[in-house]
Amino acid sequence: MASSRTSHDVIVVGLGGMGSAAAYHLAARGRRVLGLERFGPAHNLGSSHGGSRIYRQAYFEDPAYVPLLLRAHELWEKLAADSGREVFTEIGGLMIGREHSAAFAGTLRSAHEWGLDHEVLGAADIRRRFPTFNPAPEDVAFYERRAGIALPEATVTAHLDLARAHGAELHFAETVLGWEADGPGGKARVVTDCGAYTADRLVIAPGAWAPTLLSGLGVSVSVERQVMYWFQPVGGTRPFRPDRHPVYIWEDPDGTQIYGFPSLDGPEGGAKVAFFRKGVPSDPDTLDRRIHRDEIAAMADHLRPRIPTLPGRFLKAAACMYANTPDEHFVLAQHPEHPQVTVACGFSGHGFKFVPVVGEILADLATEGTTEHPIALFDPRRARV
Ligand SMILES: Cc1cc2nc3c(=O)[nH]c(=O)nc-3n(C[C@H](O)[C@H](O)[C@H](O)COP(=O)(O)OP(=O)(O)OC[C@H]3O[C@@H](n4cnc5c(N)ncnc54)[C@H](O)[C@@H]3O)c2cc1C
Repeated sequence: MASSRTSHDVIVVGLGGMGSAAAYHLAARGRRVLGLERFGPAHNLGSSHGGSRIYRQAYFEDPAYVPLLLRAHELWEKLAADSGREVFTEIGGLMIGREHSAAFAGTLRSAHEWGLDHEVLGAADIRRRFPTFNPAPEDVAFYERRAGIALPEATVTAHLDLARAHGAELHFAETVLGWEADGPGGKARVVTDCGAYTADRLVIAPGAWAPTLLSGLGVSVSVERQVMYWFQPVGGTRPFRPDRHPVYIWEDPDGTQIYGFPSLDGPEGGAKVAFFRKGVPSDPDTLDRRIHRDEIAAMADHLRPRIPTLPGRFLKAAACMYANTPDEHFVLAQHPEHPQVTVACGFSGHGFKFVPVVGEILADLATEGTTEHPIALFDPRRARV
């Protein structure tokens, strides 16, 4: 069995959204990092693919996320500057729903609590400013100029490149089979299908594979299949160009939410849209990656009354996975039983916009054992998880 030639301070397991950011932040702090990933760099078999993710600052899920998003914003800008890549773009975001919907009322509440810049639009304003939308007369919207798009594959690639530039050793196509940690102050060990490695610290960010690699954490993470759809609008993509079309979340009175993006792939491309939740429970190793006709039809039917020109021609679709905790808040902490192990999982379908700040927090926890960021909400021992 092989083992690494050099010794490492930290091993990062999983180099997707969160793990690649952690590898970069740790390497930039001068730590000797070994990163282990079962698939290739910026692959499309986990939770961090599909070209786009919504980025926003006002946060209906809980106002406690806002300070993290403000720090994430600084780090998104730094990542773009350091890597020379477009990793995010601010084009504005619209949260549409009835006055008491989570998407509208919850977002407004967090904006008030944190003094975030926004506008409130009535149905007539929505139609005038954003003519692709056909809201009901009772619908209202929260508009945030500083919302936009994070680009998942470019982000993961940027973090991996920068991690390598700071000396990190990254192994792809290498699956971690198990890990163990000695008593407090002791080392941690990882066994893979290629070898065995030891380090002072371990960061585990396994995405949808948390139920396997973090089964001892006492947190229930359930995996949900989610489909992203790209449609070419009737009459072309011009009204859906990013300089005139925001990202959006649209909540129905029954709580169903869809979210979507402008067209990012030029005149022949399409605009992406998806249901936010209500996916099928799945296993990451047997995920159904085929897209079924009835799913495409259900999405087109849902869109027709709301964004009538969007479901013109179906272009493509792709499956992705959410890794949900029961309360849909993240798990981000030192392992309760092994202080030398830091864990990041259960991002519950809304983690990508936090990727750079999660990387910073993981580096804080792995090097200092603590962080100044407010992460009490993400404690694995909180009630109901
Ligand atoms: C369809 C969809 C839409 C989304 N939309 C948004 C959005 O608009 N805004 C937003 O903020 N968030 C969104 N999210 C959520 C966000 O993308 C995820 O929260 C985030 O990507 C999770 O990152 P991760 O690092 O936890 O998982 P991943 O990126 O999947 O990384 C986990 C990595 O661990 C590796 N791994 C697992 N087990 C092993 C092992 N045994 N050995 C080695 N490697 C291993 C995996 O191969 C993978 O690369 C969306 C997610 C999906 C699926």
